Amino acid sequence: MADEHSPLEREIRRLIRIAGPMPVSEYMRLCLTHPQYGYYVNHDPLGAGGDFITAPEISQMFGELIGVWLASVWQQLGGPENVRLIELGPGRGTMLLDALRAAKTVPGFQAAVVLHLVEVSPALQKVQERRLQPLGLPLLWHAALEDIPPGPCLIVANEFIDALPVHQAVKQTDGWHERVVAIAPDDTLAIALAADPLPHFEATLPRGLRLSPDGSIYEWRSDSAALEIGRRVRNGGAALIIDYGHAWYGLGETLQAVSGHAFTDPLRSPGEVDLTAHVDFEALGQSAESMGASIHGPIAQRDWLRRLGIDKRAEVLKAHVPYGKSVEIDQAVSRLTASGTKGMGELCKVIAITDPKLKPLPGFEMP
Ligand code: SAH
Repeated sequence: MADEHSPLEREIRRLIRIAGPMPVSEYMRLCLTHPQYGYYVNHDPLGAGGDFITAPEISQMFGELIGVWLASVWQQLGGPENVRLIELGPGRGTMLLDALRAAKTVPGFQAAVVLHLVEVSPALQKVQERRLQPLGLPLLWHAALEDIPPGPCLIVANEFIDALPVHQAVKQTDGWHERVVAIAPDDTLAIALAADPLPHFEATLPRGLRLSPDGSIYEWRSDSAALEIGRRVRNGGAALIIDYGHAWYGLGETLQAVSGHAFTDPLRSPGEVDLTAHVDFEALGQSAESMGASIHGPIAQRDWLRRLGIDKRAEVLKAHVPYGKSVEIDQAVSRLTASGTKGMGELCKVIAITDPKLKPLPGFEMP
């Protein structure tokens, strides 16, 4: 019965009835950013009783190390005035708060910074305003990176790219067919394949995937964010992107739904659960390079945090807190650096995309 469905599911069913099954990417886009019913438009996923937790919310050390990195890269850029410090998807603003506090040790950095936040969620924008306004720095919001005036920039994004929609295609004997969301005969939303293969799709794939067996799944994103980042940083800028993802291209699907810190079915409760898919860092880097930017990494989050001194930072913090707190600090370091599916140390990668003039960057030097 239609009334059992979420408002967004009713809308998605209406669109499918009018226009036919929709690509998975369109489904993901509507689920996350539909202007009325999108998950990010209506939820604070990181707040009390939220759906998931991110690295800056686990520990202040994460944002602090990023702050030190940003200030040091700003110095390498020649310490430009009016540098646009851009965060894509700042969540609760925690990373910027910790980063700017830590970067105070670098003279002139705070005074040079104008904050530009790209945020789709009115709810999170309010949280960001409440928390960041007291810093007294110029602070502006934008719907998209494209809207920010050009100029020297430092861009940061943690768990932002994984929220951008992915397409999926499945190899069949007659070519690759895009995966779509359809209404199944039992009246549930279900994954189906577009009737016609994607024209010339095989030729656009990385060489190593061109002879994949039937049934293989390939996932990809629009390269528009990567191209825009590359274009902005190639002359006087740097971007630091951290996300769940793989360093090299590959087959398989990674689209997943999370609600209340547990996995759930991406096709159930559209607009009520978070959807993400891993970042293909090879594709991201190649797109940014094609605009004339340089790539550093990707490397595992664990290695990057260690090289920037997370262990030393933890020792300093622990020296000033009671024992209970010191155990929490150890647990945070472990969560941010641990291998396997429970930790973020290996699953999360860090890549920098920069002006080619920049020399080895903190955390990306060859060991
Ligand atoms: N970086 C934060 C939040 C990650 S959650 C942290 O690490 O805690 C993803 C963030 O990206 C949220 O702030 C969400 O509202 C924002 N977001 C997701 N898709 C977006 C889009 N298409 N445009 C702008 N912001 C988006």
